[in-house]
Order: sequence, then C-alpha cells, then structure tokens
Amino acid sequence: MSTPLTIIGSGMAGIGLLRALRALDAERPVTLITADSGDDYSKPLLSGGFAKRLPPERLAARSALRVAEELNVVVRTHTRVEAIDLGQRTLRIGEERLPWGELVLATGAAPAIPFPVAEAIAGRVFTINDLDDYRAFQGALAALGRPGRVAIVGAGLVGCEFANDLQAGGHEVCLVAPETAPLPRLLPEPLGRALGEAFEAAGMELALGTGTTALEAAGADVGLVLDDGSRLEADLVLVATGLRPRTALAEAAGLAVSAAGIQTDRYLTTSAPGVHALGDVACVDGVNAMYVQPLQASARALAKTLSGTPTPVRYGPWPVLVKTPLLPVVALPPENPPARWRIEGEAGDFTALAESEDGRLIGFALTGACVRRKVELARAAPPLLG
Ligand SMILES: Cc1cc2nc3c(=O)[nH]c(=O)nc-3n(C[C@H](O)[C@H](O)[C@H](O)COP(=O)(O)OP(=O)(O)OC[C@H]3O[C@@H](n4cnc5c(N)ncnc54)[C@H](O)[C@@H]3O)c2cc1C
Repeated sequence: MSTPLTIIGSGMAGIGLLRALRALDAERPVTLITADSGDDYSKPLLSGGFAKRLPPERLAARSALRVAEELNVVVRTHTRVEAIDLGQRTLRIGEERLPWGELVLATGAAPAIPFPVAEAIAGRVFTINDLDDYRAFQGALAALGRPGRVAIVGAGLVGCEFANDLQAGGHEVCLVAPETAPLPRLLPEPLGRALGEAFEAAGMELALGTGTTALEAAGADVGLVLDDGSRLEADLVLVATGLRPRTALAEAAGLAVSAAGIQTDRYLTTSAPGVHALGDVACVDGVNAMYVQPLQASARALAKTLSGTPTPVRYGPWPVLVKTPLLPVVALPPENPPARWRIEGEAGDFTALAESEDGRLIGFALTGACVRRKVELARAAPPLLG
C-alpha cells in the first residue's frame, strides 16, 4: 500500500491537489486537516458576491462531507495543527499526536494589518480572506439596515475588486491608499489613473496618496487617521493591505522559510524530504505568486510527483484578470522593473507593453476594450518558472 498522505489546509491549493491526485490514484489513503469548515469554495468569487447579494452558502460548491465522499478522503474540519514534528513524523493537535507518512502544507496566507486598530471598533473593521470573513462582513452590512458607508484601505487587487463590487451593490465606497493610483503593483500609473477615473465616474470617493496610521472609534463610526493629518469616517472599514504566508508551523518545525513563504524546489518539496508545500504559503524556486493559475499548475505537478512520476512545476505566462467591471483590467507584471513602458490608447482603453533594455516584451497591462489582446500578448511574453 502507498504511504498515507496528510494535507494541511482545505483552500484551493489543498483541495486542488486532492482532486488532481484522485485523478491519478483513487486508493491512496489521504487525510485533509483544516482549521476552517472545509467547505470547497472558489476564493476569487468572494470579491464578486456583494453586487449579486450572494449569501455565503451560494459561494460554497460543496461541503466538507461531500468532499470526503467524492474524493475518498478523511476530512477533519475546525482542527488546527499546532506543531509538526519532523523527527517523529507526527502532527500535534491538542493532546493528540497524529502520524503522517508524507505531508503537504497548504496553509495559505493571512491578512496583514499594518496599523493599530482600537479594540472598541474591532467588530466594525474587517478583512476578507475566506468564506467566514465574507459571512461576517455581509452580516455587519446587513445589520446596518441601509446601504453602508464603507472605507476600503488598500488599492491592490483585493481592495479594488471589493470597491467595485460593493459600489455595484449600492454601498457608498471610499478607497484609501498611500499610492497615487490604484493597482500600483499591476499597472503603470496612467492605466491605474484610468481605473481610478472609472471608479470616480461611478460615484466612488478616492483618497489616494494618503497612508492610514490608525483606526479609532468616532461615535458610531470608525475614524481613519490619515498620515496627512486628515480623518475620514465610515460605518465599516475593510482592510486590504496584503497577505503574509502562514509559515509559523513550518518555521517552528525547522523547515527553510523566508518572508516570501516556505521554500520549495520546482517539485514543491521543502527542505525536509517527504514534506511539500503549495499555494499562497509556498515560495517555489524563489517565486510566491499568490494567484490561482500558479497554484493549479503546482497541484497538477505535485499530484504526479506523489503518484510516482517526479514532475517539476511550470507556471508559463499567467495574466491576472482583475474583476473590476467598471474598467476591465488584465496584467502580466514584469518580474523586474522594465526599462520602459510603451503605452498606447485613450479614454480608458489602454495597452501598456513593458520592455527590457534590448526591446524585448517582458510584461504587459491592458484596460477597457484592449483586454481582448490578453491571449496574443501572453503568448509573446516570457513564462515565469518556464
Ligand atoms: C478576495 C480575493 C479575490 C481573489 N481573486 C483572485 C483572482 O481573481 N484570480 C486569482 O488568480 N487569484 C485571486 N485571489 C488569490 C487566490 O484566491 C489565492 O491565491 C488562493 O485562493 C490561495 O489558496 P490557498 O489554498 O493557498 O490558501 P487559503 O485559501 O488561505 O487556504 C488555507 C487553508 O489552510 C488552513 N490552515 C491554515 N493554518 C492551519 C493550521 N495550522 N491547521 C489547519 N489548517 C490550517 C485554513 O483553514 C485554510 O483551509 C483572490 C484572493 C482574494 C482574497
């Protein structure tokens, strides 16, 4: 019989691996352990649910019970792994010591809030990184009994998608960020400004170029203290200031980790034999992508490796589709800052090509009607982990 496999984490990485593995090996004993409900859901749908007023149940494709039945796996929900013993090959869960044969860490990444939040307003300040967070925020919005005044801190992919979605859902949205234009890591400034203009034209308020230094109580409101000395007030605040890979378990066990995640090679193997990592927690050959396409490529490759055919992962070119219907955006950001951006277009329809010193295409960004060029340009761009 093949070595039993234990997977920690039931996000798209953990369940994606399980599904890919079952396509190759129906029999191997697998245990899936997760700190949450174990519901199988697509995280990208979370930032599209408020416009459609989707209850959390509608976002979960199947329950943990169905995952267990359909994928022939033991699922342990609401179970937090507290430590990994590499020598004894056991997991510590409370008083229990659970043995493992091969281990996969798919523990994801956690929101990082870079400023203090007063305790009194904790119930009015949110991050949304899983279905439970979505449920909690939706509940707080519903409890207002009227459209909310929502301040979103952070203008990256998650902040911009929720801004667009909540605005479309009838709420009053103010987007606050220190950068001067939205999506600073995905778009060159003129394209970011075009997205900002589309947001403003739809009635959203933008407070860009201002960092948030603290969140405080302001009567029934939350007060945002900004670094230019001004203040903003909102019913609820959604903080979207980035994610940090959950590396604590791995680090305490003695695995090689960095701020970018658990270090793995192209085979998704960590510094310990028989221990693998994938998804938002993994830094694969120096790259932690934190997107679905690389995670799916990792799941397929690792499933083959675990089934006896060692397979290095290749990401290929993977343009990011930002779900901002007010102005569609597709971006394949260059790995290193380009020598120049060649930008063409007008009125929200832009093509920006990132070029190296010798004129090679190393990335691109598209907005509006130009997003239709994504396939053609993705073919021409260099693959990441090719
Ligand atoms: C709002 C939003 C929109 C997004 N939209 C897109 C998009 O359009 N396109 C795209 O490519 N990407 C998108 N992403 C990113 C993408 O969704 C993530 O890269 C992906 O879902 C990460 O999956 P994961 O399984 O690695 O981590 P997670 O989903 O975070 O799962 C981690 C799992 O580990 C478990 N866990 C953690 N610690 C422990 C422990 N100690 N013991 C037991 N279990 C533990 C958790 O309970 C959870 O089940 C979006 C992200 C967000 C937040």
